[in-house]
Amino acid sequence: MQKVGYLYDPFFMLHDTGPGHIEVPRRVEAIDELITGKYDFTPIPSRMGSKKELLMVHDDEYVEWIEHGYENGVRMIVSADTIVSELSYEVALKAATSTKNAVEFFKQGLGNRAFLNLRPPGHHAEIITGQGFCIFNNVAMMARYAQQAGYKKVIIIDFDVHHGNGTQDIFYEDPTVFYFSTHEKNNYPYFTGSAEETGRGAGLGYTRNFPYHDYLQDHELLAFYDQLPEDFAFDIVLVSAGYDLMKDEQISTAQITFSGIQSVVRKILNYAGEKPVAFLLEGGYNIDSLVQSVDVTMEELVK
Ligand SMILES: [Zn+2]
Repeated sequence: MQKVGYLYDPFFMLHDTGPGHIEVPRRVEAIDELITGKYDFTPIPSRMGSKKELLMVHDDEYVEWIEHGYENGVRMIVSADTIVSELSYEVALKAATSTKNAVEFFKQGLGNRAFLNLRPPGHHAEIITGQGFCIFNNVAMMARYAQQAGYKKVIIIDFDVHHGNGTQDIFYEDPTVFYFSTHEKNNYPYFTGSAEETGRGAGLGYTRNFPYHDYLQDHELLAFYDQLPEDFAFDIVLVSAGYDLMKDEQISTAQITFSGIQSVVRKILNYAGEKPVAFLLEGGYNIDSLVQSVDVTMEELVK
């Protein structure tokens, strides 16, 4: 049995996306009920880091803009789908900077696997802007904290049905962070994530995109995960775990089953070997499907 760290804070529910939005607080609460009710884990405490820490990843004007996004009771819209409510800045700051404690969990030898039940999600947040329900880029922040702690080479594996344009943007010229993404081609954010986008400058060759057709099946998804890079000597694996590729999700046409996603998780864990692996929640909007997906993920993590 593996010792698995688990990070959650009910504070993550206080980002208020408003009526009719699919990125609801219940997502993380339902996952928490599953995990606390069923699994043995080591709690990883959340933390409220400083604004300055966000500058490892984001532009200072953007951070400033979000901090003052909600004033005089006016909700700010970052992009058509991304909202800043009264506590959104604090919630997004806490989610992004709590990832440092997951790095500490690994560093202290408390375990080699972790699940981070974070909200809002992060992988669409670019250096200078949030979008696609994302305000700050959680997985990118964790990559930088990991590097500060001595995990110099980081691979980010992103199985969310959408391309993590934000994560790609942040590390596009950086050979120390490999970004590997599988995502539905005819889906948000539409104009990024082609196979031809492989990095730039020193980062050339350190981004790999696998855009796929509609109605993707399990065996097709699994075939991509046979192509994880063999020649990148990573020190840590971070997973943008978006569960919106499941067949019961309305936001995509992908037909991935619970057994399919469980096999993907297993492949990632086999790839990681003895190196630390953290799964960070990204998308997943059908609550029942989301909870069951996290359940099969946890089944593999604890093995
Ligand atoms: Zn997504």
